[in-house]
Amino acid sequence: MTPDEFRCHGREAIDWIADYMEQVEQLPVLSRVQPGEIRRRLPDRPPQQGEPFESILRDLNEIIMPGITHWQSPNFFAYFPSNNSGPSILGDLIASGLGVQGMLWATSPACTELETHVLDWLVDGLGLPERFLSTTAGGGVIQDTASSAVLCAILAARERVESREQGAGGELVAYASTQTHSSIEKGLRIAGLGSNSLRSIKVDPQWGMRPDRLAEAMADDIAAGCRPFFVCATVGTTSSLGFDPLRDIGQICRQHDVWLHVDAALAGTAAICPEFRAMHDGLELADSYCFNPHKWMFTNFDCSCFFVADRGPLIRALGIMPEYLKNQATQSGAVIDYRDWQVPLGRRFRALKLWFVLRWFGIAGIQQRVRQHVALAQEFAGWIQSDPRFELAAPAILNLVCFRHRGGDEVNQQILDQVNASGKMFISHTRLHDHLTLRFCIGQTNTERRHVEQAWKQISEAAENY
Ligand SMILES: *Cc1c(COP(=O)(O)O)cnc(C)c1O
Repeated sequence: MTPDEFRCHGREAIDWIADYMEQVEQLPVLSRVQPGEIRRRLPDRPPQQGEPFESILRDLNEIIMPGITHWQSPNFFAYFPSNNSGPSILGDLIASGLGVQGMLWATSPACTELETHVLDWLVDGLGLPERFLSTTAGGGVIQDTASSAVLCAILAARERVESREQGAGGELVAYASTQTHSSIEKGLRIAGLGSNSLRSIKVDPQWGMRPDRLAEAMADDIAAGCRPFFVCATVGTTSSLGFDPLRDIGQICRQHDVWLHVDAALAGTAAICPEFRAMHDGLELADSYCFNPHKWMFTNFDCSCFFVADRGPLIRALGIMPEYLKNQATQSGAVIDYRDWQVPLGRRFRALKLWFVLRWFGIAGIQQRVRQHVALAQEFAGWIQSDPRFELAAPAILNLVCFRHRGGDEVNQQILDQVNASGKMFISHTRLHDHLTLRFCIGQTNTERRHVEQAWKQISEAAENY
């Protein structure tokens, strides 16, 4: 593809995306294809000869699009959002155009320096503890996902405890609440510590970890000769947006010299608004922290910001220097080489899209949208509460409303199936206190009041049958 051909087809592709943005609201949110349906329509073998761009786009429309679930529909209320925005898409496109591989500072200095800088901006923008700034012993790095971030935190924590207590025996044990994300257990398995190294700590009625139970569990483990090394606290659990009490947990971790990782994958973005920062109270006691701009900060997947208070153990755990990558800048010690802050060697220029987003919206623009999502979710929660058929299943916090019809699991399942089959909206579910619970999360960039109103109308109509 010559630059001229690229110019021409690139315009078509941009137009295609702009058309999609205009139409996505009208498309059935949840894809309706059956398993195998997309593959059946694709040829068995790749084309021997190259094909015109037009036929690729045609097949995109005819074969691929029916198999898309529209995460960027303003009627998408399922799971947690994975939103995007124009500036993010364009930043990502330019990153693709540059095609740099930022494993080392020397392999593209701007890729590293912009990343460091934008993450420092976010420490300020979200009011995070200053120990996460790159100008301290700590600093930030963009990971692909929160799952990778917690794996890196586990590896750094193990490195720290093992270098401090060389030769100390005893099994390493980790702690998280019963509501923690599945990536914690997976990270422990990948690290070779196994699922059995994870202790599940009970939660209070608001779904936050009980610090008394954490302290007990640690004391029991120490008495049994195990070595507590890692706690993951969650700010905004995936099931019901429960908040673990960071300050209490942090103090327990300090007492026993245990690494505290804080997972704020979705909810972290809300800290851009000062009025929502109370959830981070005690965060200065954390050794690492992560939140996902690719969930709620208008930055398309993948982009997870991971901060550490001390980069030493992380780099000791993950740093490696083969001969063929040796270079003066690294040897001088004056630069950051982010390949030492993550599992893979190679890395994309993800900071570019985040920089585009922060500059296009400004802090105020992001605050305004986050506030709007929260206000809409709270309004929706009010509608649930004033309808005698329904009840809230958990406190409605930030942009998530967990609710259920009082008629029991079967009725809720039918409401869920019916509204999702309508194509006009998509919500998901969880189980709370062993009751099927509907989850309604507002976070798509373009969701407005009318979409939420329309969704409530659908749910309310579906409930009329019971
Ligand atoms: C979504 C989520 C994750 C996982 O996010 P990925 O970036 O997809 O790995 C982890 N923790 C919490 C609390 C989440 O909500």
